[in-house]
Amino acid sequence: MSGLSPIRAVVFDLFHTLVDPEDFRPRDFDRGERIAAVLGVDPVAFRGHWEGQLAELVACPDRPADRAVAYAVSRGMPVTPAQYEEVDDILGRYQDLALEHPRPEILAALGELRSRGLRLGLLSNAHERDVRSWGRSPLQSLLDVACFSCFLGAAKPDSAAYRAVLAALGADAGSAAFVADGGGGELAGARRHGFGLVVLVSGLARRSGLRTDAEVAALEPDADLHLAGVEDMPAWLAAE
Ligand SMILES: [Mg+2]
Repeated sequence: MSGLSPIRAVVFDLFHTLVDPEDFRPRDFDRGERIAAVLGVDPVAFRGHWEGQLAELVACPDRPADRAVAYAVSRGMPVTPAQYEEVDDILGRYQDLALEHPRPEILAALGELRSRGLRLGLLSNAHERDVRSWGRSPLQSLLDVACFSCFLGAAKPDSAAYRAVLAALGADAGSAAFVADGGGGELAGARRHGFGLVVLVSGLARRSGLRTDAEVAALEPDADLHLAGVEDMPAWLAAE
């Protein structure tokens, strides 16, 4: 980093970077499969439909349960309020738990970075149900700014998403770090947007089996630095 601007702000990804729903979700819990079972629709056909819906839902504020229910109704399956509530719960149960119970070492790291005067932001690709319990998360008070793609109308790696969080932080890309597990091309996108430091964190995704070692290695060229987790950020920045 010598010769580059000092880092004055840090933008974090949320899921598998600051929190991990996989810490709470049973291995055999498949959201698409469970929703199809509750609604009485064919699971394979529903899954095909749902993939496309998810891509839209991360960039609009619609409630995901509304989309799932509309699919069932369009196939002649009536949906009761109790079924709706169950679908809504399936869609966000483990995200709620992850947001409400972040790991203490992550909270400590954010507190430490903040105490050094860094501005901290969040930029998450998420649908409305993923982040509905954000207001109850202990993370909320540790971050200066939180941007969610469903409310921004733009998702990483779209430049508009990075621009929005940096503007909200009042930070230039060159003096900001972007820290993420690397889902959906977000590291390469941050580099294109001019972040002064791009950090891959792989510990959570590795531990939960979300990403293999080979998949993590494939993300390394998109980052300036590879750390096990956000908990390592304070020591690394202090050493620079
Ligand atoms: Mg992530």
